[in-house]
Parts: sequence; C-alpha cells; structure tokens
Amino acid sequence: MSERSPDATAGAAPHLPANAIELKGLRKIYRRSHGQPPVEALKGVDLVVPRGSFFGLLGPNGAGKSTLINILAGLVVKSAGTATVCGVDIERNPRRARRTIGVVPQELNLDAFFTPRETLEFQAGLYGVPRRQRRTEELLRAVGLGDKADAYARSLSGGMRRRLLVAKALVHDPPVVILDEPTAGVDVELRRSLWEYMKGLNARGRTIVLTTHYLEEAERLCDRIAIIDRGTVVACDEKSALMRRLDEKELVVTVSPAVGELPEHLRRRSVVRDPEGRLRIRYHPSRTRVIELLDAVREAGFTIVDLVTREPDLEELFLRLTGKGAEGKR
Ligand code: ADP
Ligand code: MG
Repeated sequence: MSERSPDATAGAAPHLPANAIELKGLRKIYRRSHGQPPVEALKGVDLVVPRGSFFGLLGPNGAGKSTLINILAGLVVKSAGTATVCGVDIERNPRRARRTIGVVPQELNLDAFFTPRETLEFQAGLYGVPRRQRRTEELLRAVGLGDKADAYARSLSGGMRRRLLVAKALVHDPPVVILDEPTAGVDVELRRSLWEYMKGLNARGRTIVLTTHYLEEAERLCDRIAIIDRGTVVACDEKSALMRRLDEKELVVTVSPAVGELPEHLRRRSVVRDPEGRLRIRYHPSRTRVIELLDAVREAGFTIVDLVTREPDLEELFLRLTGKGAEGKR
C-alpha cells in the first residue's frame, strides 16, 4: 500500500488529485459604500474542473466570472464556501494554492516602468523560482515578444501586454492556468496563436480554464463548459453534451414567387411563413441537412432567392438552459 503524504508532492511524480479545481457553495457579497445595496456576485457556486481538462466558463457581463477567478487567484476574499486548487484549500494554504495556478487577469495591469524581461524575472523571484530554472527567454519567445524583451511595458500595444500577462502567469510552470477573457479586444492573429499555445500546454497535461462570452471560442477549444448567469451555475457538462442540447438552428429562405398558402408537405416539416413572406424552418443540424430542406422548398415550386441560417446565440442558450435546467440533467 502506498503512503499518501500531502507534503511529498515536490518530487518528480507529484500525487495530484483528480480535480484541478473544486468549489463548494462559493459565495461572494460585495459590500459597497453607504447607501448602496450589497451585490451578491456568487450565490453558492458548486463547480468541479477535472484535471487535464480545457474548461470554458461562459457567461454574460456581470455573471460573476472574474469574481470566481479572482477568489482563486487570492485577489478577492470569498464570503462563504470552500475552494481548492489541486487539492489545496485556498483559505488554509493560500501560498501553496497560489503556486498551483497561473492567472491571466482581465485587466491589463502591468508596471509601466518594467520591461517584459524584468516583469518575468520579478515574477519568478516572487514565486521563488531558482535562477537556473527560469525560462524568461523561452516564455517571451513563446508569446511572440522575443524582440521586445527590453522595451518598456508602457510602449507595448494592448495585444503585446496581454501576451506578456500570459507569459507572466506561466513563470512558475503552474499545473492550472486560468485566463480571464484573454481575447476580449484582441485581434484574430493573436487569438489564434494564443490558443495554439494553450492547446500545447493542455496536451502536456496542464489544466486550462478560460472565461469568455464568445460561445464559438469555447465551442472550438473546450472539452467541458460551465455556464454561469447572475452568480449561479446554470449548466456544466461536456461540450458535446451541451451542444446536443443546443442542437437547433433556423433557416430563413427568401423565395420567388412570394409565399401565399403553404403547401402541405412544407407544413409537415414545420416550415412557417414569416410576416415578410419568407420561409422559416427550424431544424436539428445533427439530424437534418440543409440541402434536404432546400430540396423540399424547390419541390414545392419555389425558386430560392436568398437564405440565411441562424444559430442560437448565448442569450437564447441561457434562456433555454435556465428554462430546461431542472428537467434536463438532474
Ligand atoms: P463577470 O466577470 O462575469 O463580468 P464580475 O465578477 O466582474 O462578472 O461581476 C459580478 C458582479 O459583481 C457584477 O454585478 C459586478 O458589478 C459586481 N462587482 C464586481 N466587482 C465588484 C466590486 N469590487 N465591488 C462591487 N461590486 C462588484
Ligand atoms: Mg469579467
């Protein structure tokens, strides 16, 4: 039988628990200055992030995503509940908890008078990374700042600062990397390179958590997705399962001649005529191909002039998940 000593984790094969993050009943109430009512940003969140996952935390502005992350990062003090990172309780062992995660904050807060090299060296010092183990050059190159190592942070563009923050979060090679809206206002090129890099880290066993309000981004990258709305987790599932619950699109077809009476076989396919005289067809992409629907429209004697497909956006997704949540999973 193997002995399990919680402190014998510094060696080559650390005994890591199955979950990278575990939150139980996590609450946060922001008390505000006199007169203003307190804000309950997190209303008892239970959440598990399995180790090795690429986890998306989605939600609209004000949902509580940054609050949750800042609690894990030790920047915000929780009001109730527990949080552990790689089995380490953030309250009982804040220093060790902080070492197991690297957080890329939403705000671009960098010291304007530090160069990227100094920023990373200083951070490495803060985390007690011995000089010989530091990877300053490697990290700067990885985020495309190799040639900016000695430029002042204040001379860097927004995108460069964002990348520097990513490098800064990685100096101590944390097993869990958390990125808070890393692509808000960031160009496509940088987005892509950032994701490639994160995918590489994930492939090497790191757990990645990212918050975003872009459903598409989470859909492409994450294997698990939680949706948070007004301080409550309304869904948490494997991406594929969640997407199945969203398996609905709408096809809007402009036809000629304009639609009068709907032929019977179109009505059977739940086609409706909208006020503008177009055909609206709801369908399940996993079961029906658009081409079949278009064939049906042509067979009814219509010529297709234009078509648009609509996907449920995050807003609709919320409505559906909050509406269906009770009978859905539980
Ligand atoms: P998100 O990151 O999902 O946009 P936040 O965690 O930033 O959400 O905010 C959640 C709620 O908490 C919002 O209503 C926000 O206004 C409020 N909030 C966040 N930070 C503070 C603070 N320092 N003081 C008071 N209220 C705050
Ligand atoms: Mg936020």
